[in-house]
Amino acid sequence: MKITGVRCIPLSHAVPPEKRQRSDLGTRVKNDSTLIMVDTDDGLTGMGAALGNPEVVRAIVEFELAPALIGMDPMFSERIYEVMYNGSRAIPAIRQGWAQPEPTRRRGTVMEAISGIDLAVWDVKAQGMGVPIYKALGAVRDQVRSYASGGWAPGDEAEAEMAGYAAKGFTAVKMRVVGHDGFSFEKAVRRIAAARRGIGPDVELFIDAHGALDVSTSIRLAKLVEEYDISWFEEPISPDDHAGLRLVRQATSIPIATGEREFTRFDFADLLDHQALDIAQPDIGRAGGFTEIRRISALTSARQVRLAPHAWSNGVLFAASIHLACHCPNCRILEVSQAHMPMMYELFEEPFDIGADGEVRPPEKPGLGFTLREDALERFKYIPGPSSVW
Ligand SMILES: [Mg+2]
Repeated sequence: MKITGVRCIPLSHAVPPEKRQRSDLGTRVKNDSTLIMVDTDDGLTGMGAALGNPEVVRAIVEFELAPALIGMDPMFSERIYEVMYNGSRAIPAIRQGWAQPEPTRRRGTVMEAISGIDLAVWDVKAQGMGVPIYKALGAVRDQVRSYASGGWAPGDEAEAEMAGYAAKGFTAVKMRVVGHDGFSFEKAVRRIAAARRGIGPDVELFIDAHGALDVSTSIRLAKLVEEYDISWFEEPISPDDHAGLRLVRQATSIPIATGEREFTRFDFADLLDHQALDIAQPDIGRAGGFTEIRRISALTSARQVRLAPHAWSNGVLFAASIHLACHCPNCRILEVSQAHMPMMYELFEEPFDIGADGEVRPPEKPGLGFTLREDALERFKYIPGPSSVW
C-alpha cells in the first residue's frame, strides 16, 4: 500500500446564540475542524482531523507535510510520524535513533496537522489489516468508562445541570470552575457545592479552570472545595507554568490533571520531571496522534500517572479517542462533551455507543469505523473568521 495523496477538508458549524457557552475562554460562536484524508493506491482512504485554524492547517498539510508522504507505506506509521516531525533530518534522526525535529514542527498548528495526518494513517493502516484501530494498536479493553464534560451553569443552577448528567448514567462528571456568571471564590464554591448536591455522594466530580487562575488563587480555591470530594482539579493555572503547577499539587490533596494543550512526549516528560500532575490529558488532535500518545502513555505509566484523553471538537477526534482509550493500559476515563456540538454527534451515519452505564464502546468495523454522513460536507461548510469572541 502506498500513499497517493493527502487532502484537507475545512469544516465549520455556527453555534446558535441560545446554545453558546460562555466561560473564561470567551464565547464560542462557531466550531472549526479540518478533515484530513489520506488516499492510497489500493483504493482505501484514511480519515483524520486536525485542531487549529482550518486554512492554516490546509496550508501546512499541502505545502509542508504532504509532499514527503507521497509513496510511503501506511504500515510504516512510526516512520511517517518521524518524517513529519524531523523533516529534512528524518533520515539521520531515524538512523541514529534520536530526535532532530524541524524547528517549526515541534509544537503549534504544525503538530496539530501532524496529529491529524497520523490519525488518517492509522485509519487506513487498520483498514488494510481488517481490524478496528484499537485492535491494530493492541487492545487492553473493549469498553471504557466515560465522564460527562459540561458544567457551565451559574450559581445553584449547577445542581440541576450536573444532576442531569448523572441521570443519563454517567458515573463521573466535570464542571467548569468559571461559569456563565464569572469567577469569585464565593461563586465557585457555591457552584461546586450545588454540583455535589445534584450528583450525590457516589458520582465522581472533576473541576476544570482552563488555566485561568494563578498559583495562590488555585491553592486557596482547592482548600475551599476539598470537602466536596473532588477527584481532579484540571488546568488550575497556565499550562506553560509546570513549576507553578507543582506548587499547586503540593498544596492540595486534590489530584491535578493537565495536558490538553501540551505537545508531544517532551512536554509530558517535563510535567513528570516537575512532578506536576496526577492525570495526563493529551488531546489526540494536538499531542501527536496515536503514534505519539502511545509513547506518552508508556512514559506517564512509569510514574503511575494515568491518562484521561481530552476529547473535544469533532466526531473524528472523539472516535479516535475511543480507540486510544481502549488501547492505553493506564487510561483512567474518557471525556464525553455535553456542549452543543453537531460536528461531534451528527457527523457520522453511525451513532456513538455511549451506554446508560456511562461506558463507551468502540465500533468493530475496520479502521476508525465511522462513515461520514452524505450531507456532512454541505452542512458543515467552512465559515471564515474567529471561532471565539470575548
Ligand atoms: Mg479542560
